[in-house]
Amino acid sequence: MRALRRCAGVLVAVLLLGGPAGPAYAERTDVATRADGSARPLVGRVVVLDPGHQLGNHNFPRKINRLVPAGGFKKACNTTGTATNGGYPEATFAWRVTRLVQARLERLGAKVLLTRSANRQDRWGPCIDVRGRAGNQVAADLKISVHGDGSYAAGAHGFHVIAPADRRPWTHDICRSSRRLALDTRAALRARGVPVANYVAGGDGLDLRSDLGTLNLSDVPTVMVELGNMRDRRDAHRMTTAAGRATYARALTAATRRYLR
Ligand code: ZN
Repeated sequence: MRALRRCAGVLVAVLLLGGPAGPAYAERTDVATRADGSARPLVGRVVVLDPGHQLGNHNFPRKINRLVPAGGFKKACNTTGTATNGGYPEATFAWRVTRLVQARLERLGAKVLLTRSANRQDRWGPCIDVRGRAGNQVAADLKISVHGDGSYAAGAHGFHVIAPADRRPWTHDICRSSRRLALDTRAALRARGVPVANYVAGGDGLDLRSDLGTLNLSDVPTVMVELGNMRDRRDAHRMTTAAGRATYARALTAATRRYLR
């Protein structure tokens, strides 16, 4: 938590350096509106979405247990992810929410890159180092890693947003911007009635971690969001219904817009 506050020091300066205001879009109607006249405010923006895990990871234990760079240390390539008590896999949840967000962002004009192109039992990965570096070469505007949590603690429910801790030389460059993205993501989920996690330290829906290769290897602003606890009955209901997933997708789209405004 201390590092989180340290990161927040220049938040105001970052906000003041924000992008062009409304009128600029009026001069770019050729690219900033659709044929029907609706707005495309994210034209020119590049967003990376990282749907957690892969449905077939459990079929490839040797591949996903292989150690890969994770930001100054090594870690397993990936994990199988969790599931609801009814057996609905995290990989499928993350994939479906990601595809909804992708569609929404593309309608708004953004270029969207995914870290995996399918959700299948005969596929595995990519590894966390590949996910962590995704978007670096194209200098993406931001990256959101989509997950569901799997806590067996009694009554544990709600979402939390994980931002990279400030750790030189890995995340110092993206620490402040990622914190801003984390705050925007939390605000957007809250605004749509998704409860904040009651089982994560601090209880404010924010967490800072330095042990996640997906965050450590990123050179672009990034967060990992655990949208709910798949082992909780109510969260599981939200995560396994189309209406629930649409709520998450609307929130992540709004967070992206808010961050890029
Ligand atoms: Zn996960």
